[in-house]
Amino acid sequence: MTMLLDVTDLRKTFPARTGLFGNVIDRVHAVDGISFSIAEGRTLGLVGESGCGKSTVGRAILRLIEPSSGAIRFQGNDITKLPPAELRALRRRMQIVFQDPYSSLNPRKRAGDIVAEPLMVHGIAKAAERREIVAALFAKVGLQPRQMGLFPHQFSGGQRQRISIARALSLGPRFIVADEPVSALDVSVQAQVINLLMDLQAQEGLSYLFISHNLAVVEHVSHDVAVMYLGRIVEHTDKASIFARPLHPYTQALMAAVPVPDPSIRRDKKHVMGDVPSPINRPPGCHFHPRCPLAQPRCRTEEPVLREVQPGHRVACHLV
Ligand code: SF4
Repeated sequence: MTMLLDVTDLRKTFPARTGLFGNVIDRVHAVDGISFSIAEGRTLGLVGESGCGKSTVGRAILRLIEPSSGAIRFQGNDITKLPPAELRALRRRMQIVFQDPYSSLNPRKRAGDIVAEPLMVHGIAKAAERREIVAALFAKVGLQPRQMGLFPHQFSGGQRQRISIARALSLGPRFIVADEPVSALDVSVQAQVINLLMDLQAQEGLSYLFISHNLAVVEHVSHDVAVMYLGRIVEHTDKASIFARPLHPYTQALMAAVPVPDPSIRRDKKHVMGDVPSPINRPPGCHFHPRCPLAQPRCRTEEPVLREVQPGHRVACHLV
C-alpha cells in the first residue's frame, strides 16, 4: 500500500494562561505526540469527544495552524519544513471541508464564485474556462450548473455542504480533511453527503482524514479508526477489528454509548464517569484513569504507551 500521508510524533500546544507581564505560565497540550499514516484511497476515521484535539490534528496537518513539533510527510515531503512557495503549491493537493457549511461560505458571494475562488488564487485557467470547470464541479457534487449564480442562503444545508466539497475539489486534491462534515446537517441529508464523499473517493482515489464524534458515521466511511483522548491516540486499528472487539476501556465506553435501533438488543454498558478533564491540568499517569471503570493504582502514576498488541492493532492501556 502506498502511503500518502505519514504523521510522526505531532504535537501542538497553545498558551493557556499568561502572567502579569505577558509571560506564558501554562500551556494546553491539544495534540500530544500522535503518529499515524493514511494510504492512497483510504480513510482514517479520527474519533473522540469534543475537546480531545481531533480538529487541531486536522488543521495542523494542513498547517492552517503551525504544529509545535513533529513531522508531517505528504507524498514523501515533510511539509513542516517547506518554505511558503513550496507549501502553497502542495496545498493544492491537500484540502479541508469544515463542519459548518453556514459559516464556512461567504454569504455575499455567489456559489459559482465561491467554488472558483481557489482557481483564481492559484491563477488556474481564464474566466470562461474557469466557468466550465466550476460547472463540471457542480455536476460532480450533485448540484445543477444553473445554481452557480445563487447565493449560499438560497441553498439547503446539504446543498451548502456540497458547495464546500466542490470548492475543496476545485484544485484536484489527493487528500481531504473532513472535519465533522455532516454534524451540522439534518440526519436525513447526512447519508447523502457521506455517500457523495465515498463516491468521490471511489472515482478519484482520494484519501480522507474523517474527523467525527459520531461512531456510526465513522464506521460507515472509514477503513481504519484512531480513537483520541486528551490529545493522544489511545487505540488505532482497522475498522473491522475495532468495531468487532474494541480493546481500550475508553473505546469500549464510546461504543456502548452508540444507540442501537433494536430495543431488544442489550449492550454491555461500560460507563465512563464524569466529563473530559481540562487539557491544561491533565491527570497524571493514564489521562483516562479518573473516568476508567477498570483503573488500577498503577494507572494513576504510570503513563501507558501506545503499543502494538496484535498485528496492526495499537492500544495504550496497562491492562491490554
Ligand atoms: Fe483504564 Fe488503566 Fe487502561 Fe488507563 S491504563 S485505560 S486507567 S485500565
